[in-house]
Amino acid sequence: MSFEGREDYGMKLYRSIAPEKGPTKLFVGGLHGNEGLYTAPILERLAQADISAGEAIIVPRLVKNSKYIGVLSEEYYRSEAGMRLLQLIQEYKPSFYFELHAYEKQSYSRLTDPERVKKIGVPHFVDLGDGILIGSIAPILRRKFTEHDFCMTLEVPKWKSESEAIKEKVLEFLRIGLMKSQREMVMLEFRMRYPVQLKMAEELFHQYYRKRLKPF
Ligand SMILES: [Zn+2]
Repeated sequence: MSFEGREDYGMKLYRSIAPEKGPTKLFVGGLHGNEGLYTAPILERLAQADISAGEAIIVPRLVKNSKYIGVLSEEYYRSEAGMRLLQLIQEYKPSFYFELHAYEKQSYSRLTDPERVKKIGVPHFVDLGDGILIGSIAPILRRKFTEHDFCMTLEVPKWKSESEAIKEKVLEFLRIGLMKSQREMVMLEFRMRYPVQLKMAEELFHQYYRKRLKPF
C-alpha cells in the first residue's frame, strides 16, 4: 500500500494503511533547529515505499527552523515541536518508532563520547560507518512507549547529507524498520548488516536500561 501525504499545520505527514494486519510505525525527522533540511529529503524518499502490512506514518520534518532545544530536556516536550511529537505518539500509538536527526561535524566527538553516560546520563551513539549514528531515544520519551515497543534514533552527518551513498545507507536502514513486522526480525537484519556496531549499541542499551527493556 502506498503513502498518501497531507499537510497539517505546515507539517507534512504521510500515512499508509495496508490491508494486512501489522504494527503501527512512526518515522519522524527534523525535531528541532534546521535539522529538517537534512532529514526531509531522506524521509520523503522513504515515503515512496509500499508497505505490505500494518500502518506507517512518516513526518519528514516535524518543524521548520525552530529554536534548537535538545530532546533530552523536559523543556523540549513543552515546546511546540515537542508537544506536536507527543501528540503524534498519543494519536497513532506506534509500536515502532524511528527518530531521525542531523548533526554538525563538531558534535561528532560529543555524541560518540564513551564518557557520555557519565557526563550527561545517557549512552553515546554508535557509528555505523560514514558518520551515520544509531542509539536509543531520549529516556523521557521512552517512557511514553511500552516495553514491547521498538524505539531508535538515527543521526545523519549534515556535512555528508548531500551524498547519495549516505542517503541510501540511511534509507536502507530505515526500510528494514518499515518492512519488517516483528521487532526481532528488525534486530536480526540490523545485526546481520552491522554485527560489530549492533553488538556495541545493544550492550550500551543493556547497561543503561538493565533488564527493564530490550534493545531498542
Ligand atoms: Zn537533533
